Amino acid sequence: MSDISEQRLDEKRRQLAALLRGRRKQGGDAAAVPSPIAAPPVSLEVPESFRQQRERFLGMGISLPFFRSLNGCSSPVCSMEGRPAVNFSCYNYLGLADDPRVCAAAQAAIDTYGTSVSASRVASGERPFHRSLERRLAALTGSEDALVFVSGFGTNETVISHLLGPGDLVVHDALIHSSALQGALASGARRMDFRHNDLGDLEQLLRRNRSQYHQCLVVVEGLYSMDGDIPELSALLELKRRHGVALMVDEAHSVGVLGEHGLGLAEFSGVDGKAVDLWMGTLSKSLASCGGYIAGSAALIEYLRYSVPGFVYSVGISPPNAAAAMAALEILQQEPERVASLHRNAQLFLDVARGLGLKTGLEQAYSVVPVMVGESETTVRISALLMDQGFNVQPAIFPAVPEGQARLRFFVTSAHTQAQIRDVLARTAELMAQLVAD
Ligand code: PMP
Repeated sequence: MSDISEQRLDEKRRQLAALLRGRRKQGGDAAAVPSPIAAPPVSLEVPESFRQQRERFLGMGISLPFFRSLNGCSSPVCSMEGRPAVNFSCYNYLGLADDPRVCAAAQAAIDTYGTSVSASRVASGERPFHRSLERRLAALTGSEDALVFVSGFGTNETVISHLLGPGDLVVHDALIHSSALQGALASGARRMDFRHNDLGDLEQLLRRNRSQYHQCLVVVEGLYSMDGDIPELSALLELKRRHGVALMVDEAHSVGVLGEHGLGLAEFSGVDGKAVDLWMGTLSKSLASCGGYIAGSAALIEYLRYSVPGFVYSVGISPPNAAAAMAALEILQQEPERVASLHRNAQLFLDVARGLGLKTGLEQAYSVVPVMVGESETTVRISALLMDQGFNVQPAIFPAVPEGQARLRFFVTSAHTQAQIRDVLARTAELMAQLVAD
């Protein structure tokens, strides 16, 4: 994924540079006008690589496991393509997306404030729920302040690209989410990645390169969405101190999940939240809503509030989304047993998977559990066959993961039953035995 994005960006840079060279020389210097391209495209092009992969999957004679129609809520049992399916493909980790209290809060917010705030908060004014949600998220992360955006993806992209620039360095885990990668690419800073969750590799990279750049931001995830593993926060903080770098943790999959109270990586690691420069999170997973946030020092959040384009030039979070997230945060505080039940389910999942000889690569599980398959095509086939048997399990294939490391990704929630977990794993093991060569 990162290579492809980088190649395309390089290509765009080259085209832009060629265009600018041509423009600068236009007006007088006729010889400098760029020579016409042999066969200019008549419309935007669909890349050949996409076309080929599409043909390959269609040639397999199975329906693709993407964009299927899902009816009802993202509960452990949903309706897929009109048939009931046990659902392991939603990030509804604490089962709050259809909780009656969360739904009632969203409905009440619509009654009072309508469905949209209809403009940027900077220009049109704040609703009381905007700041109260931000204060609550700041408390959750142990930070001084927080800022809420309408998209988790957009939060990473706009904040990273805004805070870093040419002359700076962004260093990220090789499996970092696309949103952080896009932010790094758009920033104009030098971008480097270190081997997945390998802090020795990160240390070497910093030792070799840190001194050549002005600011340096290290970006990791609190719980990695592809592998389900967790970085060692205290070791990252030690590297931060030793090499003078800022640390950003994307908690999309760790808030509501890690720690006894679901407060995330800081609680899990026994670390004061203020030790991390930027906590990023989404409202779309454990918090049963839609949107993203950044939490950090009061000074940095104030700067972002007045300057980061994805906030200043974008609408404020909608009333029902803000209210749903607030209600979910309240329930998280009142009912830590949901987090305990998630941990029990994830551990059961891991134990049963291991017992069946399935490879997960994990020592401990909390929410995301991959089952490694290998080839993209076999992974897609198993996912389709699981669907036929009433289980919604999504494949993660190239380019989201490296070629040869395709896997089925299971999102375990507090609301799954033990029987559902045992059942899906038994079916998966049967299909793996039939379709995957040793
Ligand atoms: N960060 C990570 C690690 C993610 O997995 C995701 C989405 N799955 C995002 C950011 C973007 O969040 P959202 O879907 O809420 O925009």
